[in-house]
Amino acid sequence: MPKNNNEYRQKSVPPCPFNPIYPSYLNRDDEFFMKLAYNQAIKAWQLGEVPVGAVVEYCGEVVAQAHNSVEQSRDPTAHAEVLAINQAAANIGDWRLNGATLYVTKEPCPMCAGACVMARLSRVAYAVPDPKMGFLGGALKIHEVPSLNHRLAVSSGILEGECSLMLKTFFSLKRGGEGAPANSLD
Ligand SMILES: [Zn+2]
Repeated sequence: MPKNNNEYRQKSVPPCPFNPIYPSYLNRDDEFFMKLAYNQAIKAWQLGEVPVGAVVEYCGEVVAQAHNSVEQSRDPTAHAEVLAINQAAANIGDWRLNGATLYVTKEPCPMCAGACVMARLSRVAYAVPDPKMGFLGGALKIHEVPSLNHRLAVSSGILEGECSLMLKTFFSLKRGGEGAPANSLD
């Protein structure tokens, strides 16, 4: 087993060229919460992680903010969504997150989509669709399984351009490219 596997991975992550977006707190719409998730994604990148961020909104308030932490914690389940759900449940004092919305910069994977259902979130809003691994519309629609007794509303495409550019630039730079062109969002 390679001893310095993690060290190698950390070194291979290029510096993040993106700046946080500071949204106005006066208008707490979908874009507002997604901008906070975007800022979490930047934090993930700065720590050597794939840049994905998540925020949970409940009664108009932010009750959780988290980012992908798989490399740092060496935990394959430490995705932004799972960490945000844990945080939200702890803050609300109930594992049932009815009435809450989770905002995430990329469509949830099978594990996270499942966690959203199990947490009884009312809604998930994601920025970038993932046709390969996304389970809320991309590869599969777990929220539309007829036997599920929990209804989960799903919205997509919020701040998609910005979040997509960040992910594409990250993987492009990691491969040794020059980053995604500013107008290339798909
Ligand atoms: Zn996930």
